[in-house]
Amino acid sequence: MNDPRQVAASIVGAVDWQTEVSGFCRCPGEALHTQQNGKKDCRVSVDGAPTIYCFHASCSPVVAEANRRLRRELGDWSWEIALPGGRVLRNGDVLQASGEVLPREAVQARARAEGRDGGEQVILETVRVMAERFAPEMFERFHWPFAQIVADSPLQVSERDAEDQFRTWLKLWPAHCHVWIGDVFSSGKPEHRTHFRPIADWYQIGPCMGNFTCGSAFKPGSFRRCNENLNGQRFLVIESDTLAKDEVGAVFAYLNRRLRYRLHCIIDTAGKSLHAWFDAPRNRTMEARLKAGLTAFGCDPKVFTYSQPVRVPGAWRDGKLQRLVWLKE
Ligand SMILES: [Zn+2]
Repeated sequence: MNDPRQVAASIVGAVDWQTEVSGFCRCPGEALHTQQNGKKDCRVSVDGAPTIYCFHASCSPVVAEANRRLRRELGDWSWEIALPGGRVLRNGDVLQASGEVLPREAVQARARAEGRDGGEQVILETVRVMAERFAPEMFERFHWPFAQIVADSPLQVSERDAEDQFRTWLKLWPAHCHVWIGDVFSSGKPEHRTHFRPIADWYQIGPCMGNFTCGSAFKPGSFRRCNENLNGQRFLVIESDTLAKDEVGAVFAYLNRRLRYRLHCIIDTAGKSLHAWFDAPRNRTMEARLKAGLTAFGCDPKVFTYSQPVRVPGAWRDGKLQRLVWLKE
């Protein structure tokens, strides 16, 4: 066999190729699926780090084993795939959505520039292009429109009044945390210390100190909202400037159901968007991979700046209430 696509097909069976390097296949762990199968649930790509990726989570041990085999069998030799226009893609090169080839040497140069392990950089570039490739299927399979989010909430929260919204949200935080609430510029000078307070203080004060908070707690005594003052307790707040309220829910559902990030709440910002609060990634590696995928879905990479201001529930914005619409039990 001298075509890497034949090697892939020898592992996953027939592949419905969508591009020169990526196509739909039957999941090797299909027997473990606990939810309905779709024809476009599983994909195989041979560029970058060759990868089989399935939307189901229950099959992951079998898929992981198949991935090890795929990477072993495609990593052992030099191969090339002919692309339109006389170009070639070699093993380790990454095919971009634009049709351009990111050469493996450029991947390694990025790794050096960002101080990252070369192998991990290949994974990151692969996650990014894979997410771009499966985004249409992801948005369809995990579709979670706004009205459904509200209806699905384990606790009925969307109709609560401003004070109740605010105090309900405060309960997400451990009692010892110091949290910032203010307006975007309520930070940076000693007089802004009044915006950094323990949770118990905020219970007393109520939702009257500004429209914003952070997904991270700060060290006691802070008056500047910056990453150096974070105390370690944090949420990952996912938002998008481009996805509508009926679209972004798919990203939230994907993170929660497929990637198993714990979802704490979803907040209607009283503007065009929804914010979802998740557990933060366990480590830098997971964070970088998630960032690559989320950016491909149209979510804002600035969410990974943990001192970024986000809308606090219970505050009013132009006559509309910023409010919780989904809350875990
Ligand atoms: Zn599967």
